[in-house]
Amino acid sequence: MSFSKASVRDAEVAGRRVLVRVDFNVPLAGGRVADDMRIRAALPTIELLRERGAALVLASHLGRPGGKPDPELSMAPVAKRLGELLGTEVKLAPGVIEGDVDLICGALGPGDVLLLENTRFEPGETENDPKLSEALATLADLYVNDAFGAAHRAHASTEGVAHHLSGYAGLLLEREVTELTAVVESPKRPLVVILGGAKVSDKVGVIDRFLEVADRILIGGAMCFSFFRAQGIATGDSLVEEKGVELAAEALERAKDSDCELTLPLDLVLGRSFDAETERRESDGVEVPDGWMGLDIGLRTAELYAEAVAGAGTVLWNGPMGAFEMEPFAAGTRAVAEAVAKAPGTTVVGGGDSVAALRKFGLDDEVDWLSTGGGASLELLEGKKLPGVEALMDAEDSDSDA
Ligand code: ADP
Ligand code: MG
Repeated sequence: MSFSKASVRDAEVAGRRVLVRVDFNVPLAGGRVADDMRIRAALPTIELLRERGAALVLASHLGRPGGKPDPELSMAPVAKRLGELLGTEVKLAPGVIEGDVDLICGALGPGDVLLLENTRFEPGETENDPKLSEALATLADLYVNDAFGAAHRAHASTEGVAHHLSGYAGLLLEREVTELTAVVESPKRPLVVILGGAKVSDKVGVIDRFLEVADRILIGGAMCFSFFRAQGIATGDSLVEEKGVELAAEALERAKDSDCELTLPLDLVLGRSFDAETERRESDGVEVPDGWMGLDIGLRTAELYAEAVAGAGTVLWNGPMGAFEMEPFAAGTRAVAEAVAKAPGTTVVGGGDSVAALRKFGLDDEVDWLSTGGGASLELLEGKKLPGVEALMDAEDSDSDA
């Protein structure tokens, strides 16, 4: 199945003003952008539009200011960093819609770039208030959504505004949807899915979907303890999400009737507490005694998972195998990251912490697709429709519009 939405590549933008929703929700430190990965990910769309003679009005949220201006969450550091990356001045608007924003937009010429203030300074953003959507729509002639990381939210700048302007998919959003959809709809087999991280409840929808479409699911991270608890195995002081135990029990039940093999760890690395300096012990087996917690998968498990990855036609990895931020508990995640990096099959990695782990190990260039959207990528993989994508024009309607 090819991407069904109109693409920015097919939009006629010369001499027109384009409102581009980007995902510039980046970490800040000391008034600067601490990690510009998300800004870089939007550059291809921004550069394409500038080359084609559009004037750009960029919009993004940043953090959770709660519907009112908060100087700590101003887009100013983002405008500065974007300007450095583009090698051109990026103006910062005094607000989202108020003040002279409409006049400033009206004065933009081809190739100019204006960044609106944090969209969540407006209470109407998260409420998807039509008044805000309409006001945003008056700022431009057409709309491009490149904010994949926010596409699972029906907010004014991600969804509402697309009802008032012709809406096109940006290059990043298009690629994200295409890559992630391909994993579930047309994977090279075997399809091996590695799931880890902290919460089963966030990822149970993905487990359900992959029990139907994957050949194998390998579980690691804190998530495995909900499964062990559901099987009546002692988990000691390991991080167990209570709600997750029930969900894990249901998933184990469904796995019995599925052609997909659900694999849990065989061995673990234990610690006394969630602390890099804690006493550490390798455990051959998965029972965790009181006074200990499981903080990583063990060596045998890591080898088993690495072998499965090596033999896969397609690998999807979401969620670290352990508390990889602490070196004594990073080996399992590192082994999986290295296996994914070396894998001959198609490799797709999603989830903020999994991507962070790959980057920490210097392996982020070795995978085929690194998703920029945590929640959005999970919802898409589950098979949910993303409001920010659904609201865009269908590809076959795009000609008549431009
Ligand atoms: P992602 O962002 O890739 O989707 P999650 O947010 O679900 O991943 O989970 C990442 C977090 O899970 C990491 O901070 C890691 O320390 C934690 N984690 C993984 N395994 C364990 C474990 N066994 N015990 C406690 N925390 C864990
Ligand atoms: Mg995370």
